[in-house]
Amino acid sequence: MNRILLVEDHVDMRELVVRELHRAGIAADAVGRVSEAEACLAQVRYAALVLDRGLPDGDALPWLQRLRTRQVLVPCLLLTARDALHDRVDGLEAGADDYLAKPFERDELVARVRALLRRQSAWVSSAPHWAGLGVDPMGARLSHGRSSVNLAPSELQLMLALVRAEGRVVRRGALEAAAWGLTEPVTPNALDVALHRLRRKMDVLGTPVRLVNAKGVGYRLEGPADDTGERSVRGP
Ligand code: CA
Repeated sequence: MNRILLVEDHVDMRELVVRELHRAGIAADAVGRVSEAEACLAQVRYAALVLDRGLPDGDALPWLQRLRTRQVLVPCLLLTARDALHDRVDGLEAGADDYLAKPFERDELVARVRALLRRQSAWVSSAPHWAGLGVDPMGARLSHGRSSVNLAPSELQLMLALVRAEGRVVRRGALEAAAWGLTEPVTPNALDVALHRLRRKMDVLGTPVRLVNAKGVGYRLEGPADDTGERSVRGP
């Protein structure tokens, strides 16, 4: 999973951070309270956590410390208005991997999140390939042979989910969660629109892989070696 969880109670700051991350091709779920963050962590395996220290349900540091005690080791960037040396030391000792004081430059935020993600070897090595189609999460590109196309953030997440499924059906709900997460509102036809754009990009690439609708269930990639016609639906 290459999605990050942002925990920030200030609405404007939350929207700004999510926007900057999206522009950098990084998908994020965003919540404002520790309790909501716990609920998200229970459902999704995040690649990184961006955590504001002062939250309405308390100082985020003791919570981070409890996560580490529970062996929840997701890399964490701590955002805070405090920049005294002892605050930085407290943050790192509580289990944060990096520390960024507000106000910060947008570019620095993105660079630090990327550095955190690079530490996750899974993130670096997870450039999945299937039937000649390759997805590069860091570059947000889809490739076939020597040609490649850019993917928008939601298209990148959809393609990662489909390629990792290796021809098995991915349900609509799982695709929506992959592309827009648990916290973003999704319009009913957003998935169809994004899949339509993906199909056009696959046409531009000239891949023989097709993106097919598994009636009423979801979508899957169909490789050139697949039988014609709809095969039995496998997987959840
Ligand atoms: Ca705050």
